[in-house]
Amino acid sequence: MAPVEDPMERFHARLDEHRLGMSVALEEARHALSIGEVPVGACVMLDGEILSRACNLRETLRDPTAHAEIIALRRAAFSVGAWRLTGATMYVTLEPCAMCAGALVLARIDRVVFGTRDPKAGACGSVMDVPGNRSLNHRVEVIGPFMEEECRELLQEFFRSMRKESRTTYPEGPGPALGREPGGDGATVDGNVYV
Ligand SMILES: [Zn+2]
Repeated sequence: MAPVEDPMERFHARLDEHRLGMSVALEEARHALSIGEVPVGACVMLDGEILSRACNLRETLRDPTAHAEIIALRRAAFSVGAWRLTGATMYVTLEPCAMCAGALVLARIDRVVFGTRDPKAGACGSVMDVPGNRSLNHRVEVIGPFMEEECRELLQEFFRSMRKESRTTYPEGPGPALGREPGGDGATVDGNVYV
């Protein structure tokens, strides 16, 4: 297929691939939900093939860097036998944070497609724009929000159940990792507000 220069045309030419990639990322996010992790999933595709897939494992591994994107990048690099992921696309259900957006630039990945925005920590246009920073030596194309409703609903489901649990387990106040916004409906985790 000849390279398409117009971003919208390019997006539509790859729509089926984007849907497949995000569906795999959503499967990973559902798995994260089933093991009590914040439901974020990711996958890396190259030439229509899935190179890797991963979900957030921060609690399981007790590792602040165990975000879905970082694990998926490591697995993808292992699978191609090189750290450079030129030509590849990352699909992730939540807008990447600064660490993950930085890792995407370092991996020289072509593009990232994210599901729903993270207004508190998103580094692909929400609180900052790491992939679009012109001072960096590599630009990552950003597409999103894409298949937003499904991605957002999973996160909402998780935080609804956390709030319920928080009320049961910690009747006097917020749990160790989760507080309720005073007077609001949102839950906060690590200072992020999810409603
Ligand atoms: Zn991250």
